[in-house]
Amino acid sequence: MEVGKISGLHIFEEKGKPGIEKDKVKVLKGGGIEGDRHCFDKDRQISIVTGDTLAWMQKQEVEGLCFQKFKANIIIEARGTDIRGTRIKAGDTVLAVEGKKRCFEGCRRCQEEMDCMLKESCYYASAVSDGELHVGDLIHYDYNWNRYVRQMLVPGIGRKEQERLKNASVLVIGAGGLGCPVLTVLSEAGLGRIGIVDGDVVEETNLNRQFLYSPSDLGKNKAACAGRWVKAFRPDCRTSMYTEWFTEENGASIMEDYDLVIAAVDRVPTRLLINQMAVSLHKPFIDGAIDGFYGTVTAVLTKESPCLACMNPEGKEPLHVSSSLGTTTMIVGALEAQSALMYLAGIPSQNGSVLSYDGIYGTLEEIPVKKNAHCRVCGNRHI
Ligand SMILES: [Zn+2]
Repeated sequence: MEVGKISGLHIFEEKGKPGIEKDKVKVLKGGGIEGDRHCFDKDRQISIVTGDTLAWMQKQEVEGLCFQKFKANIIIEARGTDIRGTRIKAGDTVLAVEGKKRCFEGCRRCQEEMDCMLKESCYYASAVSDGELHVGDLIHYDYNWNRYVRQMLVPGIGRKEQERLKNASVLVIGAGGLGCPVLTVLSEAGLGRIGIVDGDVVEETNLNRQFLYSPSDLGKNKAACAGRWVKAFRPDCRTSMYTEWFTEENGASIMEDYDLVIAAVDRVPTRLLINQMAVSLHKPFIDGAIDGFYGTVTAVLTKESPCLACMNPEGKEPLHVSSSLGTTTMIVGALEAQSALMYLAGIPSQNGSVLSYDGIYGTLEEIPVKKNAHCRVCGNRHI
């Protein structure tokens, strides 16, 4: 995701002296800007402010203490985006952005609780790598490897597997009870690109399990709300929101663009439609279903895998509305996401079987399933 661009660069050589305007500056790994007096400080080596805030400061009649004290090395044009705690890529370098600037207690603006844009849009950063910054450089969020240090300690998941996840894309159809845990796990694990499809809006009866939403989201589209959460949690993740129902008309064009498809929907006809499209577009596909204390996960990952239509040729649907328990959706959604992550990372995973979860006995059983040679969806064809 794009943050904005660099509109000004300044070096401050000595305390009290005015800054020197530059077209380009060098940054040093672990430090700041070459020639700047804070370059080799322990932290807060590089200061950043938005152009809007500078313009606002110039207009203020009641000045704050920071107005004299804060000197920005980098001026950025950005649209009110909070970059705190992120890594941003500009030019050929990456900056780790620390917290925001703190207020001085002696500041009149602070004492009188006056509004202050400086609180919102001044940051400190240090350079993650050597490189150059230029006026006009576009700024993007960068993949923050540091977030996956613990994950890469898991046997079987190293730098190579994480790199695969970084480059992978998943389409999640349904942002409800199963979709919420699926999206959370995929985002946490560092997936590079996520698409979310849902035409539904958030309702009160969803809030016993759909934990990405709060009462203030009632009536809002689920794909839009869930996408907003993913973007805030992982600004570097390329996120697309499709605020429409997945149908025969739009399905193929949406699905085409992704490496793997996850179905997190409750209706059998929609699950079978997704199954059919995934088979015909040769997309590996993972399905999840729940009812009360029970749930299943089916992975259709290769041409040898039995598909959903092999198991339910008539497309039978339960006659009752599925009851939904937050623990079941959380567990089954997480199992779907785990299956997807293992496949994408290149780790052998469940395939050609149904994982069956029983919440009353707390068991998980893998049930082998045979491919139906006469299946109307995958029979006698190669996916
Ligand atoms: Zn089949």
